[in-house]
Order: sequence, then structure tokens, then C-alpha cells
Amino acid sequence: MTLPLRPDLAGLEPYGAPQLDVPYLLNVNENPYAPPPEVVDAVTEAVRAATGGLNRYPDRDFLPLRADLAAYLGSESAAVGLDADHLWAANGSNEVMLHVLQAFGGPGRVAMSFAPTYSMYPEYARDTFTQWHVAPRASDFSVDPDAAVAEIQRVRPAVVLVASPNNPTGTALPLETTRRLAEATRTSGPDGGASVLVIDEAYAEFRRAGTPSAVTLLAEHPHLAVARTMSKAFAYAGARVGYLAAAPTLVDALRVVRLPYHLSAVTQAVARAAVAHADLLQRQVTQIRQDRDACVAWLRERGFDTVDSDANFVLFGRLDDRHAVWKGLLDRGVLIRETGPQQYLRVSIGTPDEMTAFRDALTEVTGL
Ligand SMILES: *Cc1c(COP(=O)(O)O)cnc(C)c1O
Repeated sequence: MTLPLRPDLAGLEPYGAPQLDVPYLLNVNENPYAPPPEVVDAVTEAVRAATGGLNRYPDRDFLPLRADLAAYLGSESAAVGLDADHLWAANGSNEVMLHVLQAFGGPGRVAMSFAPTYSMYPEYARDTFTQWHVAPRASDFSVDPDAAVAEIQRVRPAVVLVASPNNPTGTALPLETTRRLAEATRTSGPDGGASVLVIDEAYAEFRRAGTPSAVTLLAEHPHLAVARTMSKAFAYAGARVGYLAAAPTLVDALRVVRLPYHLSAVTQAVARAAVAHADLLQRQVTQIRQDRDACVAWLRERGFDTVDSDANFVLFGRLDDRHAVWKGLLDRGVLIRETGPQQYLRVSIGTPDEMTAFRDALTEVTGL
């Protein structure tokens, strides 16, 4: 018997960064520092309170959580006038961005990005029957504003997704480039209207001093959305909470396509407890940024090719046989990620002990 699988899904593998039981997990850009005991207590208490009401469906519109997230973004960046109506959340920012494609993509429409970039974007397009288009980044992995604007005007995408800082390169967009993209996408959409421009800031909290957030441009651009997540800086990947800030009309479109009660009462409770303890959860972000910069400097001293990173990982090369290096590290208990451009590998920034293990293993494997 054959199942009536969609022909376009035949032979496809599910997303699968390896989940292996090894001592040093430096492959999926998690925060290596577990939530501290004060936060564990607060989250446990919040779950206990929510559990008493689990016979009821959760609050569909979760305005209290959205208000908390608006206040957090307002305190973290120079965002002005954000309130609950400007915020949206789901089970990870992957689901948030799927909502964007469900609302604004679809058959006959195009979504685009600039490669190398996040491997999940084409999957949102596939899952919503949206055509996927990629334009190249420059050789230093930046987005060339003139080339990007010309390509956007040619392709007329419904949605443009740009990660900043970008995964897997760590490259952030200068505010001037984001501004150019936001101006161009005002009139580049499929029907002569706007394209939705999503700036995916999953790694925003790790950016170097002086690197801006696109959140500051929201007030001027009703077609701009900034996606964030609790999975990285918040040390909360297991909780599955991502969110997005945009104009209320854009957020209202996402409310149409979400499944009923998509954010459980438990998730809402643990997310609110986390936002209330944002400082404690992000206590080690400064340390991670320093260890990231030290990792870049160390790799350069050894003659590896790296670009500056505004995220909690570093892409490095060039390796004649990157798979052999990846495997050599794994044999020494260090799991990193074989992703991005050929000849490059990506390492997430762990604790100082984990980074020592990485450096020792890489030295042994490459002899450099
Ligand atoms: C990790 C990551 C995300 C976040 O995914 P979640 O679903 O929120 O865990 C989003 N975008 C990029 C580019 C990422 O690397």
C-alpha cells in the first residue's frame, strides 16, 4: 500500500541537527548556562498556579504575555510605543514565522532571503505552498543593499526574511541596510503593495556594542516585523517561546491563521515567569559575548578564516574536508555543526570549559 504523500514531500528528511549524547554540545546555539535556581522556583510556582486551571482552554489572545514582551523590548532597545497589540508569540519563533508565511505567502506568491542563511526558511515556504527564492550574500556574508533592492524589485516577493545576526554566519545588518530594505519593500509586493519584511533577530541580545536592532524602525514601517526568541539568550530553548513585534494590522493577520489556543496555559505561564526574570536568565550573555570574541581571535591566530560574529556562535573555515574535521571533533566528544558554506563549520559558544575542549580537539584534529 502506498500513502497519498504530497509528491513534493517524497524522499524529504525531517529537520535533524543530530541530538547525540556527548560531553560537549556546541551544535545548536543553545545557551550553555541552565536557568538559575531563583528562576526555576518562580517558573515552578507559575506552572503550579496554571495547573489548577488546565480543565479550561487557555487565553487565546494572551494579552498579558504580549504586554510583558512589549515592555521587555521597550526596555532592551530604543523601541517606542510598543504595546500588547504590536506583539505576537508562538511555540518558538519558527512557528511565528510560519504564521507569517501562512498569512502572507501561499500559491502564486514568492518568499525570499539572502544565502547562506537559516535552513528552516525554505521549509516554511514549502509548507505554505509559497515559491522560495534565494539571492546570494556578498563574499563577506553581508547583504549588499543595492543588489538586494534590485532583486527584491525584480522578484516582487510577498515576504522577505532576513536573519540579523544571520545564522550561520553571525553577520548583522547595519541599520542603514535594514532601512533600505524597509523602504524598498513598501512597494515591492505581489500586487504593487508592500512585501512583508521580517528581520529575524533570534540572536539580538548577543550583538556587539553599537550594532542596532530593527525594532527601532517599527514605528515608521507597518510592513516590517521583527522576530525574536527565548531559545538563545534567555536560556529557554526547551520552553519553546518565540515572538514578533509589528504593527497591529500585521499582528491581526497572524491571529487569523494560528491554530485555536496554540499557546498552552503552561507555556504562557512559563514565558511570563521568564520575562519577569529576563535579567537573571541573561546574566551570562556578557560572558558569552566575550568568549565569542575570544574564540574569533583564537581561530584567526591559528590561521582559520572567520567573520566577526554578533551571535553566540562562530563560523570558521576553510577546511578541505570539513566532514573529517567535524567527525574528528565528535570522536573527542565535541559536537559542532556541519552547516553553511562548503569548507566551513559552525561552533556554538559554550562555557569556558567547553571552549577549552573545543580548542584542544580542533588543535589535535587539524594540527594547527
Ligand atoms: C535558533 C533560531 C531561531 C529560533 O528558533 P525557535 O523556534 O525560537 O527556537 C530563529 N531564527 C534563527 C535564524 C535561528 O537560528
